[in-house]
Amino acid sequence: MKIGVLALQGDFAEHISMLKKIGVDTAEVRLPKHLDGLDGLIMPGGESTTIGKLAVAYDLMKPLQEFGKSKAMWGTCAGAIFLSKDIGRDQPLLGLMNIKVQRNAFGRQVDSFETDLEIEELKKATDTTHPYHAVFIRAPIIESVSGKAKILSQLEDGRIVAAQEGHLLATSFHPELTDDTRFHEYFISLAS
Ligand code: GLN
Repeated sequence: MKIGVLALQGDFAEHISMLKKIGVDTAEVRLPKHLDGLDGLIMPGGESTTIGKLAVAYDLMKPLQEFGKSKAMWGTCAGAIFLSKDIGRDQPLLGLMNIKVQRNAFGRQVDSFETDLEIEELKKATDTTHPYHAVFIRAPIIESVSGKAKILSQLEDGRIVAAQEGHLLATSFHPELTDDTRFHEYFISLAS
């Protein structure tokens, strides 16, 4: 099992340390050839416009789209934006996942917060019962899911913050910034 982390911009180093913590082989992905031999790919948080521009500049768009057709892919925050089909504005997107995303959906003043989420799928998969502590930083929300995409987690007011479509995973928040490895373990289960 070897999982790549898109390392163009953003907090890819934190994802790498989480993966190492759970004993998974990792690789930093900056060029198309770095995707060879990987079982899955994580796209980190950061700035989705920058990640998109760099992916275009390094000829990564097509290879990433091909990879995501059959291999597990997980976008956190900016990575979730990049993975989505529609954000209602023009910037490079992989368009792989049937989710509509709104960037910076929590506004500027309250742009960062933490909250506990009850994610049944995650608890079941990791055989645990405690809530998942989620960190949101200038986070997007998932406005809607369509096709085969399903909702994994919602805030109390109903706003969607995690979704899954088969081997594709999107979270508005940053599991790499906590000590809780359950989301990374869950992703590994999708990749194997
Ligand atoms: N606000 C960023 C964007 O729209 C995402 C923030 C993040 O990844 N923490 O791309």
